[in-house]
Amino acid sequence: MASSIHREQSGAALGQRPEPGSALAGGHSLIDDLVTANHILFHQGVLDAFGHVSARDDRDPSRFLLARNMAPARVTAGDVLEFTLDGEPVDAAGRRVYLERFIHAEIYRARPDVMAVVHSHSPSVVPFSVSRRTPMRPICHMAGFMGVHVPVFEIREAAGDGTDLLVTNGDLGAALARSLGQNAVVLMRGHGSTVVADSLKRVVYRAVYTEVNARAQLQASQLGDVVYLTEAEGLKTTGAVEGQAGRAWDLWEAAARADQWLRA
Ligand SMILES: [Zn+2]
Repeated sequence: MASSIHREQSGAALGQRPEPGSALAGGHSLIDDLVTANHILFHQGVLDAFGHVSARDDRDPSRFLLARNMAPARVTAGDVLEFTLDGEPVDAAGRRVYLERFIHAEIYRARPDVMAVVHSHSPSVVPFSVSRRTPMRPICHMAGFMGVHVPVFEIREAAGDGTDLLVTNGDLGAALARSLGQNAVVLMRGHGSTVVADSLKRVVYRAVYTEVNARAQLQASQLGDVVYLTEAEGLKTTGAVEGQAGRAWDLWEAAARADQWLRA
């Protein structure tokens, strides 16, 4: 499939000299879209100073691309590093990496179908990670990808009481991947969520609409007696809507590019 993800673009075309050890040193075109994904997810209020988005390397499925440790809105092509499925950078060239890179590594290891991952602390989702009474469920057709059951990762079950709630090693990453199972979204108790998809554009769409659905569900629950999507409706709406994820990407990319602050 000829998508913008596969278009050829060199580091020189991006106007940047590759840093030693950066994924850009290989002249890899997926990086450009990963930078855009970082900017969109900040601009849409999914990522703030924290959280991250990654893409499986389309040239080597045993590797993935992720920025160095920095705020997503400030990521440039030269900041993108390549990682193994052990969660270690191939060559960080002395730069700091995200503490929670194991989220991405262990999900890519467990789910060969997953090509992109977003981990965020998007604010409307967090309340559903701690409520014992009200699980997150899809209430609108744009969020049918959630299915009827959104799992919650309880880190105490994996590592006991007294953790910092962060997924900072391979064992915790593997436990999170088990909680995710075959779902598209897993909530992380008292922390945030992780969303997966079979493409970068689709995972950005899902991360944005996970936050949108959480806001809508919070509002609907105040009205009471909420009707949720059924499993059949979830499957049907996912097929109908996600084929148009590129429309959302194009709009959000243009909006992010028009933001003076992000262009600085
Ligand atoms: Zn986190």
